[in-house]
Amino acid sequence: MEINLISDTVTKPSNEMLQFMFNAKVGDDVYKQDPTVNELENAVAQLFGMEAALFFPSGTMANQTAIKLHTNPGEQIICDKYSHIYHYEGGGASFNSGVSCCLVDGNRGMITADLVKNAINDPEFYHAPLTSLVSIENTTNKGGGACYDISELKKIKQVCIDHNLKYHLDGARLWNAMVAKKQHPKQFGELFDTISVCLSKGLGAPIGSVLLGSKVDIKRALRIRKIFGGGMRQAGYLAAAGMYALQNNILRLEEDHRRAKEIGELLKTLNWVEKVEPVETNILIFSVRPSLEEKWVIEKLQQKNIFISSMGHGKLRIVTHIDYKEVMHNYVMEALSKMQF
Ligand SMILES: *Cc1c(COP(=O)(O)O)cnc(C)c1O
Repeated sequence: MEINLISDTVTKPSNEMLQFMFNAKVGDDVYKQDPTVNELENAVAQLFGMEAALFFPSGTMANQTAIKLHTNPGEQIICDKYSHIYHYEGGGASFNSGVSCCLVDGNRGMITADLVKNAINDPEFYHAPLTSLVSIENTTNKGGGACYDISELKKIKQVCIDHNLKYHLDGARLWNAMVAKKQHPKQFGELFDTISVCLSKGLGAPIGSVLLGSKVDIKRALRIRKIFGGGMRQAGYLAAAGMYALQNNILRLEEDHRRAKEIGELLKTLNWVEKVEPVETNILIFSVRPSLEEKWVIEKLQQKNIFISSMGHGKLRIVTHIDYKEVMHNYVMEALSKMQF
């Protein structure tokens, strides 16, 4: 039994999901004639109360399309210093859109309205890049699965309105945030110009993200997706996995969160653990005693067939997911509690 806690992207489609995919009706989605892709796009748009949606092969492409939609070359995005769009999208913001990021020093990947306000460049001061977009992440990835209160998101929205800025939500793990905070998709749909959500993380689909926005924006996004090479043909087989995931795999995220919290509580009692960051969802970041190297922990767990990842600087990361079952959890808890250095 291999237990992979490196990411929630390592999951494989269940037999039920595969069966659902197998039975999908498909067409050519580049002609917008794939009924299952159309169904998924409509379903997600409705769920969020937004006008339109577009299916993407990856969350990266969905975010990059949003950045391209909302900016012109030379302009600037405000985002947290931990942002996925800055760290983990291959420099795409500069490559695809010719924009830079103004990184703000948020808390666990979350920014505030005040931080945003202070980061806006005066549009009259033509020496500085024009600020055009605020991008936030919920839950935060590098921030350890932290999630926002709606009230702060509303305050940031007001700053965007006051300064004529677009507002994008990188919601790769928004499902986790909504389950943890008991929030509704429409609460996000009414705030943001665009939202990207992943189907291939917590929800367990093998591939796929959806970008949400106004009809006008999504029509432009269709062209940008084409330019990025993201037009797919009989993509309904993949969209079907997303449909299945939406119908079956959202509420169970609660289990992933519980298991992550239980591991966090256990780690706090171990003398080789220095600090456990707050666990709100399915990502758990902890650091080891300075005298200990992360790779020793990783190797020791590997010997027990448990795989976790290092974030450098003494930090380690555990991510729970749909393929991490209760028996595995019991085994991991036992293995961790017995581990000594
Ligand atoms: C995973 C992730 C993405 C998109 O990743 P893909 O691997 O391209 O699907 C975007 N933003 C955040 C915060 C993520 O964690």
